[in-house]
Amino acid sequence: MLKTIFENSPIPTFVIGRDHKIIYWNRALEKLSGIMAKEVVGSEDHWRAFYREYRPVMADLIVDERQSEIPFWYPGKYNKSKLIEDAYEATDFFPELEGGGKWLRFTVSALRDSAGAIMAAVETLEDVTDRKLAGDALRESEKMYRALSITDALTGLYNSRYFYDQLRSEIERADRYHHPLSLLLLDIDDFKDFNDTYGHLEGDEVLVRLGEVIRNCLRKTDSAYRYGGEEFTVAMPETTGDAATILAERIRKEFENEKFYPLGGGKAVHKTVSIGVTQYISQEELRMFLKRTDSNMYRAKGQGKNRVFCRT
Ligand code: GH3
Ligand code: MG
Ligand code: MG
Repeated sequence: MLKTIFENSPIPTFVIGRDHKIIYWNRALEKLSGIMAKEVVGSEDHWRAFYREYRPVMADLIVDERQSEIPFWYPGKYNKSKLIEDAYEATDFFPELEGGGKWLRFTVSALRDSAGAIMAAVETLEDVTDRKLAGDALRESEKMYRALSITDALTGLYNSRYFYDQLRSEIERADRYHHPLSLLLLDIDDFKDFNDTYGHLEGDEVLVRLGEVIRNCLRKTDSAYRYGGEEFTVAMPETTGDAATILAERIRKEFENEKFYPLGGGKAVHKTVSIGVTQYISQEELRMFLKRTDSNMYRAKGQGKNRVFCRT
């Protein structure tokens, strides 16, 4: 009866004795491994189903009570069974198995005699390749959608939705640790004229290029966002208004030197940007911080554009 149950179980299973010789090898395992029971029962060849060269499998470690070696052979891939004592579970990729390799989840449990001595180990296997690949694909696409949802498609900078999230957490951090935090707001000068003269598509090229200039001037901890149509922001943690002004000035100069050759233009056209800079004041509301930065940007416009204005 037991043998029939074992033979007809859809779960690939084998049993080895204390001497590592195979006692049982069921039909489901014949299917999974391509190795017939009659070829291996009585031998110590169970490893051949999984590996190209000899190495102990989990069942070998269990019959020898070498549990301490499991982390060496299955690093980061195993856990102790929550269901039964003396059992271990692991998931691993087996490149030798048919169809370009398979992910197997396997469990090994010790079979003990009435005195508690180990007589054998039973190992069951499950092909989890489809589940694993589906899970990986899902995680990848989640990652991609998350990246897309916070990215501005035109410039590749972060979008305004993400800006508010990030600025909120930067403000919290600045308040908690009493660290400086500065903000830049950039607005392209006379952009409407440019669009009216050369068209919206050429205008978009200017936005893309400003995005590149900003990105090239950023330090590791700075983050840049396309805040509105032709307005950009840069959050600068751990940065005073003075230090942020120096970076803003670098962006302004770099952008001023960019050459554009819009269709129907003929010669090189230069565009400029006005930048408002301000440093966060402890306990200030996000709205107020933004508003002060915006006013500074308008001061830069009022003073003749193509300049940086900083006041806290
Ligand atoms: P100022 O120097 O005062 O900033 O003048 P301006 O013309 O840049 O400012 P204004 O706010 O009057 O115009 C902004 C223009 O930006 C209007 C709109 O045509 C253009 N714009 C906004 N978003 C986009 C965009 O995504 N692509 C393009 N090509 N143009 C945009
Ligand atoms: Mg504007
Ligand atoms: Mg503008």
